[in-house]
Amino acid sequence: MMAGGTGIGKAALECCLEQYVTVHPIRYLPEPVLRQKAKRVPNAPQRDPRLQQLIDDMIESMGAARGVGLAAPQIGVSLRVIVIGIPDEEPFALINPEIVKVAGERQVDEGCLSVPGYHAEMVRHRLVVAKGLDRDGKKVRIKARDTLLAQALEHEIDHINGMLYIDHLDSLDELQKVEPGESISREATPR
Ligand SMILES: [Zn+2]
Repeated sequence: MMAGGTGIGKAALECCLEQYVTVHPIRYLPEPVLRQKAKRVPNAPQRDPRLQQLIDDMIESMGAARGVGLAAPQIGVSLRVIVIGIPDEEPFALINPEIVKVAGERQVDEGCLSVPGYHAEMVRHRLVVAKGLDRDGKKVRIKARDTLLAQALEHEIDHINGMLYIDHLDSLDELQKVEPGESISREATPR
């Protein structure tokens, strides 16, 4: 989505800056950035144009990869920022997110953009309550139960703590290969 070209006036450029969004390549295991505990974003994210750009780029990169969630380390940025894009819902960002409550257990099928070609059955919580800041710096609290959103919140918040879904498996033998012709295993997507 790089809008290129020459001869664009400065005013035109400023009015259209939001279109300059970059799809970043997804980092795969064993990239060390995926295993680092990411740094907290300082206060007032709404006043940091680089952070706003990062969020736009993450939403675009998530869409291009057909993911339902993406964490900043997955594009090589070790910051506590995640985006979630549930199909047919508006994608959103959560800054410095934390899980504040979980309850119950359920079986899900999960994959990760950073571990391409595989998926696995695993256990996630039924109820997930998370808090953080939205991109405007407003405090938000999200409650999800038995949904893809609940699964994605846990998956993406794991990422900023350097964890991957495969860490929750008893053994890597539990990983299943995505079969040819099968849709690719998307980030935290039940199948
Ligand atoms: Zn992932």
